[in-house]
Amino acid sequence: MTTQSVARLEGVSKHYQTRRETVAALSDATLDIAADDYLAIMGPSGSGKSTLLNILGGIDLPSQGAVYLDGERIDTLSERALLDVRRRKIGFVFQEARLLPSLTALENVLLPTAFWTAVSSDVDEKEHAVAMLEKVGVASRANHLVHELSGGEAQRVCIARAIASKPRLVLADEPTGNLDHATRMQIVRLLEGLHEEKATAIVIVTHDPEVAARAKRRIVMRAGRLVEES
Ligand code: ADP
Ligand code: MG
Repeated sequence: MTTQSVARLEGVSKHYQTRRETVAALSDATLDIAADDYLAIMGPSGSGKSTLLNILGGIDLPSQGAVYLDGERIDTLSERALLDVRRRKIGFVFQEARLLPSLTALENVLLPTAFWTAVSSDVDEKEHAVAMLEKVGVASRANHLVHELSGGEAQRVCIARAIASKPRLVLADEPTGNLDHATRMQIVRLLEGLHEEKATAIVIVTHDPEVAARAKRRIVMRAGRLVEES
């Protein structure tokens, strides 16, 4: 592994055991994400894209193989140590934003910090969270409840939350899936700005060829395998 590698999968497989069968969601995947990478992952539904992303980010554990973040093997860490690495190094953006609807935009951005440090009333933390909302263009919605936001605004809040910890790697799972074309491109450009300004590596799962075409490289998955790279 090179020193510039921010994440690496080495021979990673993932099986899910259901009552009736074993599903091979990911088979022998080896993948390097460079610190300045901008990678698009494509492939049909059920081909293992989310599984790959979740394992890269330490949300899910492999059945076989090894996962490295910044050179450190993470799949063998204790749950607590893994949470800590994840919180410091990874920002997740999901399709349905996954914000807490009963909280405001600002509270959602503050939540991970509050959870870890119990300083949510800390002025600095709050200023930082507001700055993140400003950065993604929704500061004016800071005190609105999530259900009052449009899909594009909610997705921006989700990105603000993901970048608040200054992650080395942002993992975005179909972040533009439910958005109209103009909003979709705004969200993509936002992620690209982050990539360029903050040197954050970006991995984006997308079905949209226009979105994928903007990435530095593309991989295609089929039936749990990485089948093609361009
Ligand atoms: P994609 O994101 O490309 O649509 P996924 O990674 O979500 O694909 O899923 C890959 C395969 O693994 C699918 O067949 C899916 O049904 C299966 N799978 C994913 N998560 C689970 C789970 N928790 N339990 C059982 N099967 C799962
Ligand atoms: Mg998926």
